[in-house]
Amino acid sequence: MKVNPELIDEIKKYGAFDISACFNCGNCTAVCPLSKEDASFPRKLIRAGHVGMEEKITSAIEPWHCYYCGECSATCPREAQPGEYMMALRRYLIAKYDITGLSSIFYKNGWLQTWLALGLLAAFYWLYSSYTGDFGVLAGRIELAFPVYVTVALGGYIINMYRYAIVKPLGGIKASLKPAHIYETFVHGFTQKNFNGCEETDWTRWIAHLLVMSGYVLTLLISNLHLLSPLDKHYTLFSPVSLLVWYAGLAIIVGGGSMSLRRVFKSAESSKFSHPSDWLFVVTMFLIGASLLATHYLNVVYGTSHPLLDQVYRFNIAVETVWILLIVPFTKWIHIFFRPLAVYFQHIRKEAEAGTAFTLQLGDSK
Ligand code: SF4
Ligand code: SF4
Repeated sequence: MKVNPELIDEIKKYGAFDISACFNCGNCTAVCPLSKEDASFPRKLIRAGHVGMEEKITSAIEPWHCYYCGECSATCPREAQPGEYMMALRRYLIAKYDITGLSSIFYKNGWLQTWLALGLLAAFYWLYSSYTGDFGVLAGRIELAFPVYVTVALGGYIINMYRYAIVKPLGGIKASLKPAHIYETFVHGFTQKNFNGCEETDWTRWIAHLLVMSGYVLTLLISNLHLLSPLDKHYTLFSPVSLLVWYAGLAIIVGGGSMSLRRVFKSAESSKFSHPSDWLFVVTMFLIGASLLATHYLNVVYGTSHPLLDQVYRFNIAVETVWILLIVPFTKWIHIFFRPLAVYFQHIRKEAEAGTAFTLQLGDSK
């Protein structure tokens, strides 16, 4: 296996600044509630990083099994922050899977993505505010384009993750066709159930994630199905669409607010270290929730013709545009897809080892 002596310094550019203090005692793996015999972490990956085993790191799926409960960091005798190392590996892997190379630039250049997001927000808000046609119709078209863009971006990531985690190390295209494994992948995708595998369940964090996730999925549905036409229809306080909007907006604000407070007060291991992209993520979510609620409030109370409604709605669509273009494809948002895929890839590896995986051999894939 090729050795890259610069590897650990490269990983440190994604976080994990204290990992050089590690003296390889293995305590972190012993206390990690999610580490298993066939997917052991974090010590092995720390060692691989230190000795420069680049292929072992790029093909690793274990970082996606880690839910950053922080038990390893809390008990590390050298305060090497192994939990943060796993977080840095997830950023490193996202950068590897990303064919555009933008994730790497954003992760390594602190606040660059935030400045770009602010610039884009100002530009889109100006553009939408200057639009003199029927903005309701334009907003509908923009919202319908969102899922197409996200599907293309996500497709690129998934193909590359599969290439790094399965095709390269196993030497071909392999899959598990067992319905139970496919079913389990979907269950993990919808519930992220390993979150509760940590020994002491952090209920505040779990509830905050649940609120943000459910609020966000509802916002996506409202937006992508174009359920809301605030400039054309007057909604009542308790109409079905209103109930969806109230829940989505409040869930995002309460969940996102709780996440932000944890980061401000560094109240748990998982929130002690914040990358600028973590702030960009929660603040943009907050803006989406707040502008969605404000739009709907103005519609319900004043009807469709209030001048402020038009401006707030244009701002809401501008924030959503920046979110979809710049944040969804290049931040940790995509973890929610990589985690269940890692569970599925683990099954493929086990079946490949046993010689039972579905295989399509490639001549020169190694
Ligand atoms: S990170 Fe800490 S607990 Fe883990 S092997 Fe290194 S020194 Fe030991
Ligand atoms: S943060 Fe938690 S899940 Fe991740 S490696 Fe450490 S103990 Fe394991």
